[in-house]
Amino acid sequence: MSERVIEAFGLAKTYGAGAQRVDALRPTDFRVDRGEFVMVAGPSGSGKSTLLAMISGLLTPTAGTVRVLGRDIGGLSRDAFDRLRLEHFGFVFQGFHLLPALTAIEQVGIVLERQGIQREAARRRAAATLTRVGLGARLDNKPSELSGGEKQRVVIARALAKQPQIIFADEPTSALDSVNGREITRLLRAAALEEGASVVCVTHDPRLIEHATRLVRMEDGAVLAD
Ligand code: ADP
Repeated sequence: MSERVIEAFGLAKTYGAGAQRVDALRPTDFRVDRGEFVMVAGPSGSGKSTLLAMISGLLTPTAGTVRVLGRDIGGLSRDAFDRLRLEHFGFVFQGFHLLPALTAIEQVGIVLERQGIQREAARRRAAATLTRVGLGARLDNKPSELSGGEKQRVVIARALAKQPQIIFADEPTSALDSVNGREITRLLRAAALEEGASVVCVTHDPRLIEHATRLVRMEDGAVLAD
């Protein structure tokens, strides 16, 4: 039987009020099982990022509940949620969020150290993960010395190295050419199919859709098809 990793009921988000009111997400049920690679696709403004931000706890819903790994995240203390996120979530967002002063191996290593892994072990695992995403020769390079595709691979390695149960990706390929975009998608798919992570990926890039194990189509703040 499949294991439910994310389960949201009646999830909704409204921004603003009165004439400025935007129903970014109308009441929506959403679930993700272990090992799924779920692609959430739809035009810009359809509510994809809003949905992702709420199921990953980055944004408070206007209505509805979100259970992640069996816990109602709306009911967790800040500390408890931060621990859940640190231990079990990996994020791959557009725009990289890499620290300019750190080399690739340090970017990945500090996340592992924050989880309590000893420095040497963290470095070894960081190097192994970077090698796996094709950056074995780039361990000691800083972001300014890397191409866009390489930077996004560092971001992927940073998310994968901690072997998270869930990976949240928002437009992970939008800044990349098709070759790099395909490679990033392949890595996300492998995390799901080979390592049993659940991957939720928001995109408006139709080239990525065929790689998903499940496709959720959104329009105007609602799920059209699943
Ligand atoms: P998508 O990810 O599909 O492009 P979003 O979830 O970003 O869509 O946005 C859904 C709708 O909510 C859009 O109409 C957008 O303009 C609006 N929206 C998103 N974030 C905010 C915000 N912080 N304040 C007001 N409106 C927002």
